[in-house]
Amino acid sequence: MFHVIVAKAERYKNLINGQWEESSSEKTFGSINPANKEEVVGVFQASTKEDVKRAIESADRAFESWAATAPSKRAAILDKAAQYLIDHADQFAEELTREEGKPVNAARGEVIRSAQTLKYYAVEGQSHSGETFPQDDPDMDVSTRLEPLGVISVITPWNFPLSIPARKIAPALITGNTVVFKPSSETPLVAYRLVEALVHGGLPQGVLNFVTGHSSDIGDSLVDHPAVKAVTFTGSTGAGERIQRNVSFDTRTQMELGGKNPLIVMEDADIELAAKLTVNGGFNLSGQACTGTSRVIVMKEVKEKFLKALLDKTKSLKMGSGFEEGVMICPLASEKQLKNVLKYIDIGKQEGASLLYGGEHVEEGDFSKGYYVSPTIFTDVTPSMRIAQEEIFGPVIAVIEASSYEEAVRIANGVEYGLSASIVTTNLKTAQRFTRDIKAGTVKVNRTTTGNLMNAPFGGIKKSSTSTFRESGRAGLDFFTQIKTVYVGY
Ligand code: NAP
Repeated sequence: MFHVIVAKAERYKNLINGQWEESSSEKTFGSINPANKEEVVGVFQASTKEDVKRAIESADRAFESWAATAPSKRAAILDKAAQYLIDHADQFAEELTREEGKPVNAARGEVIRSAQTLKYYAVEGQSHSGETFPQDDPDMDVSTRLEPLGVISVITPWNFPLSIPARKIAPALITGNTVVFKPSSETPLVAYRLVEALVHGGLPQGVLNFVTGHSSDIGDSLVDHPAVKAVTFTGSTGAGERIQRNVSFDTRTQMELGGKNPLIVMEDADIELAAKLTVNGGFNLSGQACTGTSRVIVMKEVKEKFLKALLDKTKSLKMGSGFEEGVMICPLASEKQLKNVLKYIDIGKQEGASLLYGGEHVEEGDFSKGYYVSPTIFTDVTPSMRIAQEEIFGPVIAVIEASSYEEAVRIANGVEYGLSASIVTTNLKTAQRFTRDIKAGTVKVNRTTTGNLMNAPFGGIKKSSTSTFRESGRAGLDFFTQIKTVYVGY
């Protein structure tokens, strides 16, 4: 599974109990540039279960003292770490692009957003508090205290390899928890930079531990240790389901998983806008966003007009490395991604969908060293086809025809996911009905299915999330604290 190291890339270590150290396996793996698979961006520790156990035990030992640390001191560390990210934004953005492939402007935006997330929780986390309750006894006060849980396992994907860890680790730390963080094996370098920033911020030893390595080696050991009181995970639904089976009954879980996000185009829609939202939501980052538009459900009477506008816009998209100006179709993040996306394009053809555009593995010239797939549009897709049901996570859009609002919503809801959904309409009543009728954690009107605010709750329903706790915003703090109800008579 791990790549052979060919270039002289820098070696990075784990962080356990405040010490940067090599894995007990004495093995490493390379993080590969998806725009140039011959380039090793960095070399990382192929950790063992023993390394993970030590990381968890270190976090456990550090917990009591960190939980007792003044919130203002914890906040000051997050603030200083945020400033470190900002000061190194250009370098970290470049590394992010080399490691994941996303356009460098988007990468820079992600670095800044991560810094803002740390700053946001530095402020918001200090006023995360309990309630007081009116009751009949004049000589008694009743209130709730919010207390940290203990050791939190943080496991994250490659598509937002800095901002997703930031929105988990910041609320975990500010509320007094300690952390073991395992990033995706595709993007450990930018994850390392976040850890570096927090260490620079002044985190005491053991409060944040960092272990790299493949999930097949260390995945289970990150979640089944009795000292792990909660697992916050973002990734595929399959991995989330496995983790859920592996944790003990008293381990809290937060799973942010896959999506099959629909965009409905009504007969009264602004068609140019609908095409623009489809392209931006479906093809940005080459479709590798959990909230990416992967199904477009379009009313019969405007289908031809919409397809023409969509095709015009898709044809003008620029493909290239994330360092080229104006690129939207960047390389897919890994060979695994490439194979999976090509597999689904084949499935779509075999199922009888019409390939309107794209569907190619682009390998000529400059593209030969990277994982490029052209933006792909399937039409004549029926709701039960696999390309209309399963998450593809690439630049592939399935266009499905509907004859009424009711049918469109039935199709939109007829999948096992429920992450994000949007409708394009000029009718206020239709828009309002949609926000009620759609089964999704995020609902939008005349906006892309992608994108979420740092200060608003984010998460899905059905197989897109465990849905008990949300990420982001004030709601993002709830997962990391438990309620104690206190009755004081005097
Ligand atoms: P993935 O293969 O599930 O991996 C995600 C992370 O989990 C990686 O760090 C991976 O480590 C680790 N992992 C995998 N199996 C594990 C197990 N059994 N136990 C413990 N850890 C395990 O997902 P991905 O390919 O990185 O990311 C794409 C997926 O993430 C898509 O399905 C996308 O929809 C979803 N996503 C969801 C959201 C959201 O907020 N809902 C946001 C972004 C992405 P290795 O890399 O070492 O395998």
